[in-house]
Amino acid sequence: ALSVEDMHKSFGDAHVLQGISFDAAQGDVISILGASGSGKSTLLRCINLLEMPDQGKVALDGEVIAMRDLPDGHRKPCDRKQVERMRSRLGMVFQSFNLWSHMTVLQNIVEGPIRVLKRPRAEAIEEAGVWLEKVGLYDKRDAYPAHLSGGQQQRVAIARTLAMHPRVMLFDEPTSALDPELVGEVLRVMRTLAEEGRTMLVVTHEMGFARHVSNRVMFLHEGRIECQGAPEGMFGDEGSERFRQFVSRQH
Ligand code: ATP
Ligand code: MG
Repeated sequence: ALSVEDMHKSFGDAHVLQGISFDAAQGDVISILGASGSGKSTLLRCINLLEMPDQGKVALDGEVIAMRDLPDGHRKPCDRKQVERMRSRLGMVFQSFNLWSHMTVLQNIVEGPIRVLKRPRAEAIEEAGVWLEKVGLYDKRDAYPAHLSGGQQQRVAIARTLAMHPRVMLFDEPTSALDPELVGEVLRVMRTLAEEGRTMLVVTHEMGFARHVSNRVMFLHEGRIECQGAPEGMFGDEGSERFRQFVSRQH
């Protein structure tokens, strides 16, 4: 589904991504682990062009969507519409929900489908019900975000992303901002999505998710993939020494 090739990104002197390459097949759920500052968020942001990579290639279903290494040294031009469409195909869920506070749950969900996908309003509203059922919040459709718990807000954010029919879902520490007792409800929704065969890249510190839900674990260190593999191997004896130390420092 998704292919990332030789991605580089610097901020000033800091070479934050130093050549990242991997493929995600349809249905792959990849947990991206690594210490703070190792480049996890930058990797996701470069994949969906919230940041423009300095070099590298991203392809989705064989279609190249970002490229900085054309022979003439120019990046593939992307107009705003293309970038928007592409971002909707790589749905991103952030640590900080980012719901629109002046809109109800339902309005939050239908806004993208109506504005970006040009779906008829009635159709978007009807479909939103399906996504709200999936995240278990149908009865909250008319509530405003401020009246929801963090876990509920994050589930709305997931429903909002699903409504855009993304080909791949990118999660950046979706449970890190939540009180511990609210983490489980969000992880359960994510597990359901994984079991449906959705392709997901998940930056997380939840070792249970990495071990038991994802089918691949990728460990970043200083902007490179230090090791990766199936969770059984990675949490067995195939991970690097540094990865083992990283895991032992998690709760
Ligand atoms: P964390 O676990 O803390 O979220 P991370 O692995 O997601 O860390 P990144 O956010 O990708 O790390 O940051 C990697 C490095 O790049 C850090 O040193 C950070 O300060 C730097 N960086 C990230 N974004 C920017 C930016 N927009 N401008 C300058 N430096 C940045
Ligand atoms: Mg981060």
